[in-house]
Formats: sequence, structure tokens, C-alpha cells
Amino acid sequence: MSPSKVSTLDFETFYNVVDGKQRGSKEIHHGVNPATGKELWDVPIASEKDLNDAVAAGKKAFPAWRDTPVQKRKELLMKFADLFTQHADEFTNLLCHESGKPKKFAATEIGGVSGFIQYHCSLEIPEEKFEDDEKTVYTEYTPLGVCGGIIPWNFPLILSVGKIAPALLTGNTIVVKPSPFTPYTGLKLVELAQEIFPPGVVQAVGGNNELGALLTTHPDIAKISFTGSIATGKKVMEASAKTLKRVTLELGGNDASIILPDVDIKKVAPEVVMGAFQNSGQVCVATKRIYIHESIYKEFLQEMVNFTKTIKVGSPEDGDNLLGPIQNSMQYEKVKGFFADSKAKGYKFAAGEPDVSTSKGFFVQPTIIDNPPNDSRIIAEEPFGPIVPTQPWSDEEEVIARANNTNTGLGACVWGKDVEHASKIARKLEAGSVFVNSWEKPTPQAIFGGHKESGIGGEWGKTGLLAFMNAHVIHVYKS
Ligand code: NAD
Repeated sequence: MSPSKVSTLDFETFYNVVDGKQRGSKEIHHGVNPATGKELWDVPIASEKDLNDAVAAGKKAFPAWRDTPVQKRKELLMKFADLFTQHADEFTNLLCHESGKPKKFAATEIGGVSGFIQYHCSLEIPEEKFEDDEKTVYTEYTPLGVCGGIIPWNFPLILSVGKIAPALLTGNTIVVKPSPFTPYTGLKLVELAQEIFPPGVVQAVGGNNELGALLTTHPDIAKISFTGSIATGKKVMEASAKTLKRVTLELGGNDASIILPDVDIKKVAPEVVMGAFQNSGQVCVATKRIYIHESIYKEFLQEMVNFTKTIKVGSPEDGDNLLGPIQNSMQYEKVKGFFADSKAKGYKFAAGEPDVSTSKGFFVQPTIIDNPPNDSRIIAEEPFGPIVPTQPWSDEEEVIARANNTNTGLGACVWGKDVEHASKIARKLEAGSVFVNSWEKPTPQAIFGGHKESGIGGEWGKTGLLAFMNAHVIHVYKS
């Protein structure tokens, strides 16, 4: 179809997408709108047969897609970006319903979809050539085959596109499994994609954790691109080892933010708060520990508290809200556990002690814990909610060691007027992405991945393309 024609798409009926066709199921589940607690639309749960059919269709479609010139693949991806943009409002609305995000943040995620695809389409697939008197060695990269993309609930759309765009660009086919908490935008995205791509190239099967596990053991899936928790990531790697699948694991983090004594306190403190509480703290690279130089500790914390108290929390429809609810009841209970633990241990709630036990829906007012001990849960674990600890520091090497004293290594931030000095500290932080004078804002222009238990490998950017490819080296000897 022509992308200039607005396609009609029903945003209230949802299907799995197998071999270019919508597919229902006898088994149904549904998401819950976290702002209202009300059940959302029915969604079919894919059976093992649905998955097997999808993988078979992906395998059948692979040779022709692989052999489609990369320029043509890019053209189709760009058409898809255009087509998606025509439905931006409907997708924003759907994302608000399934995730509870305030509308302007949902719109940012939606806007990121075409940006993500467009950037990937500007990339060339890497290649190298070596020549000496005896031979020419061509290092080329070829696609893997059928990939499986397993998605979490915190950014259901952009994290789907973050797998689909590089997989398709590099000539793979892909089967996406959205989170059971947020199945809607992912399934609709793939349904829309059928208007552009040949059957079997991009497919979606919705379902629970068990379906995810089936992807990781399927013999005809060549690679799993997984984004989710560290605990599940370990299971994915273990299961994938049985068939030696390639895996990319994008997992949880416990990002440190180091505040140097020369910062502009009034300007930086609200930014640091946003780094912690963006998407209600439900971000893998949210700031989760804040280390403030002791000479400005009190004043900086006070500015953080002042800003935090102005943050409005509420439903997506209210344009003023900066934060929405926690996305699901399971996570809500988990986050409440961090509040309860901090309270039971007698830690100081710098921004007040929100009454989470009686709040309606899954709403949590953000708060800051003032200087809890190093071995506290709130320092050592990832809450994935709007609660963040601060601690003072005095010695630079010591605070770097404290920031690095974790089994995770996803992101980190350093804030300071002297950019060179801040960048020097950034290079000593053991994390995949370190931000100087900004809170964590991952971008498609660079590979994104974690050190230590925050992941294996990485995707996005030019280097990230290699995660979807095999090296294929051709040695040509001169006769
Ligand atoms: P999760 O690990 O519970 O679930 C993620 C996905 O894995 C879901 O689709 C789920 O159905 C599926 N799954 C569950 N068990 C499985 C199994 N045994 N085999 C295969 N798939 C299985 O994670 P979540 O609660 O949805 O997401 C929150 C976590 O994700 C946080 O820890 C967060 O830090 C992390 N995260 C990481 C990144 C990143 O890029 N590094 C991005 C977003 C979220």
C-alpha cells in the first residue's frame, strides 16, 4: 500500500500476528489500566502452536528478506516509520491506557519510534577489507535468521522498535513477544507492519512468561534479544545455551549519580530529581543512588526536596502531571516494600513520607531517603519506583568506589561545571552508558548495554547492528 494513504486500524481489537495474518486464540487475557485499575481489552494468548507457526513462517521468509538489497529493506523501514506516524495519536492514546504514562511522555515514546527507525536507516552495515601480496580478506556480516524479541512493560513500544529496526535492517526476521502487562501497543505495531513487510518478516505472539521461555528453547530461533530483569535474564541465558543461541541481555541497573561541589545547585537539583523519578522511576537507567559532595549536601538536597514537592502525580489525561502510576499491581507491591523497609529501619524521608498504603490506583508520591546506610535495601537493590536515596561524599576515589560497588553496571551520571573533570570521573564508572551533565537519556545513536549483571552485549547504534549478525570472512588468495 502507499504510505501516503492513511490506513484504517482498529485500536480496540487485538491479535497475534502470524505469517502476515491476524490470529486470535481460545485463551484470552487482558491488561489493566494502572490509572483506573480497570480491565482493558481482551488479548489472545498465543499457544505453542502459534509460536511454532510463527517461527516456521519467519524461517520461510528469511532467505528472500536476507537477499533483499539493504537499500530496499531501508526503504520499507522508512515507509513503516511514515505509516506509524500517521497513527501517532491512536498509539499515544493506547500507550497511555496500557502504561498510565502522562500523555506528553507517552507522546515522546511514540515520537521516538520514527526517530529510532530513521537513525538505523542512516547506518551502513559494517564491513572491512584487508589486503597483502598473498590475499584479500573480506570481513562481512550476515544476518542470523529468525530472532526472538522479548519485551518488558516499562517502554513497551520503543523497546519493541529497538529490536525490530536493527533486526530487519540487517536482514533477519523477528518474532516479538510483548509483556503480558502491556501487550497492546506492541501487537498493534506489528499488525500495522503487515501493510509494509512481506509475511513472516515481523510477527508478534502475545503471552505470559511461559511463552517467553518457549522462545528461548525453540531450535529454529537463532537469537534472543531480551530486555527485562536480571533474574529473568539469567534464565534466558541458561535456556538459550541449550541451542547455543546468540543472546543480547538488556537488564536492570542501580545507577549512581555523582554531584561535584561546583554545580549550579538550583539548576542541577531538579534535573537530578527527574533522572530518578522519570516514568515514576520505572526506567532501567533511572538514577537510583545520588552521591552529593558534602560541602553542598544540605543545600542540594533541599533543592531536590523543593522540586519533588511540586511534582504532580496522576492520570495520563491531566496534562499537568509529571508522573503517572506504577504500571502494575505486582510492581506496586514491590515498590511499597521499599517504602515499608525504609520506614521500619527509621531512615529519614527527606521529601515527606507518602502514605502509599491508602492511595487509590497504583499511584505513589515520589520521595527521597536522606543518607541511609550502605547496606540498606534502598541503596543495594533496584526499587524500580519513585523512591531514591542520597548520601554525602568527600573523597573522589572513595565515591567512585562506592558508585562501582554493585553487581550492576547499566548507567551512571556525573554532574559538574568542569566538564573535563566530570568526564574523567565518568570514564572510571563501571557502567555501559555514563552521562555527563544530563540524566540518563539513551539514544539510538550509540550501543546500549550493561556491564556486570546488567547484561550481555548491547544493541542500537552502528556497533549494535553486529548483535544481529554473524561475522562471515571470505579469504581470497591470489593465484
Ligand atoms: P521481566 O524480566 O519480569 O519480564 C520481561 C519479559 O520477559 C516479559 O515479556 C516476560 O513475559 C518475559 N519472561 C518472563 N520469564 C521469562 C522466561 N523464563 N523466559 C523468557 N521470557 C520470560 O521484567 P519486567 O518486570 O517486565 O521489566 C522490568 C525490568 O526490566 C527491570 O529490572 C528493568 O531494569 C529491566 N529493564 C532493562 C532495560 C535495559 O535496556 N537494560 C530496559 C527496560 C527494563
